[in-house]
Amino acid sequence: MIIYIKNHEFHYETENLARVFFPNEKIEVTNTVPDELISPYIYTAFDNGENTAITTEIRIGDYQDSRKAEFRTDSSDLELELALLIYDMLVKYTGVTPPWGVLTGVRPIKLFRRLLQDTSLEEAADYFKKRLMVSEEKTNLAIETEKHEQAIIALSQDKSYSLYISVPFCPSRCSYCSFVSASVERAKHLIEPYTELLCRELEETAEYAKKLGLRLESVYMGGGTPTTLSAEQMQRVLTAVNNNFDLSECREFTIEAGRPDTITEEKLNVIKACGVDRISINPQTLNDDVLRIIGRRHTAQDTIDTFLLARRCGFTHINMDLIAGLPSETAESFIDTLDRITQLDPESITIHTLAMKRSSTLTQDGKTLNKEEAEAVAQMLSYANKKLHACGYIPYYLYRQSRMTGNMENTGWSKPGREGIYNVFVMDETHTVLACGAGAVTKLKENKNNTLERIFNFKYPYEYIDRFNEITERKKRIGTFYAEHY
Ligand code: SF4
Repeated sequence: MIIYIKNHEFHYETENLARVFFPNEKIEVTNTVPDELISPYIYTAFDNGENTAITTEIRIGDYQDSRKAEFRTDSSDLELELALLIYDMLVKYTGVTPPWGVLTGVRPIKLFRRLLQDTSLEEAADYFKKRLMVSEEKTNLAIETEKHEQAIIALSQDKSYSLYISVPFCPSRCSYCSFVSASVERAKHLIEPYTELLCRELEETAEYAKKLGLRLESVYMGGGTPTTLSAEQMQRVLTAVNNNFDLSECREFTIEAGRPDTITEEKLNVIKACGVDRISINPQTLNDDVLRIIGRRHTAQDTIDTFLLARRCGFTHINMDLIAGLPSETAESFIDTLDRITQLDPESITIHTLAMKRSSTLTQDGKTLNKEEAEAVAQMLSYANKKLHACGYIPYYLYRQSRMTGNMENTGWSKPGREGIYNVFVMDETHTVLACGAGAVTKLKENKNNTLERIFNFKYPYEYIDRFNEITERKKRIGTFYAEHY
């Protein structure tokens, strides 16, 4: 499909909106508008006179439709007006009404919070429903999530920060994964030098935090699958954290122990002894056929056994991740999974929607999304919403990604008071995140002027190892950023 753009700059929004309706299409965007447009296409044009006339047109096979409307040229909403015209045509053509309306951004809750700064709750909800075309169900979810997020954001103070530690290794690659995660078979020889340098980077990063008098609110060790490290390697990394960072005010220390096939009693004991108080054990599904199809080398029973082992080791905050829309998963099997997970009674459950990332094996193998799957995912999420509320969970953070099945969302649910606060801080960009390890991105935040600056570490473990000195150099920016802004 070609998107023709004439006399405006809203390429990005137009393309993203088209992608909501045509998730499998290759979309090309161009400013070159020939006399004869090539079908299938979306044509959008601005004609600026006293007012701005917006023309939109689609042609797909024999199907043709168009809209035209005039708006005040100085309107700050021209981008939205354009989106609404395109949206209207595409809803009519596809028969699909996206639950998040014209919203294509990652952080709808942050947008909702911004609206609340200037309007009442009722007006903000109305704006979501009537102007942005967000469904009643998703608007209610946004209202509830925002309330819980806000309580966590309020915990953050001036000079608060969080620490992220990346361990980009996994026992095997899941078919839906797009992370730069190296499978152990291929990268085993890198794990030891990686661990050593990670400890060094932690020491160096802690020095900045100390000198600048920063206050550590939360620590998150993710990846990848951190528990791919041996118990001894975990011990070294966690000791580097404990010995170098001031954890006296730290409210949460999470480790993603994502894959049950990497978790042992010895590792759990090390993690616990080093002060980690929240772990995430991620079943994704309790359907063994689906687990096999997505390339996870463990069974549903392994997940349950690992969960019970973690309880016996004394973990009182366990999160479990599920994914709605995995290949060959039906609404019934998802519901069965969720019912069994809630029986285990973890403190928090994160419900993701499958996103068809371009670099995932699934996408590379030609998997596409269809309307039936989108409808099944809508059923799964509606069920989750009811079931989790009924079991005493609240939604406390939410984000969206591109190419999600049915254009849905990922939502973190927890028992009240058991929210994963790091998730909220990161999604809201509340404060600085100092990040260590391959693929990690440090985000320096200054709140008065809302300044956000990023420092990127190298993505791949071998680059991280070979060019570690360059990372040390880049991180000097932490010191100068605070000198400039505080
Ligand atoms: S465990 Fe997570 S990071 Fe590792 S391959 Fe699977 S989805 Fe990717």
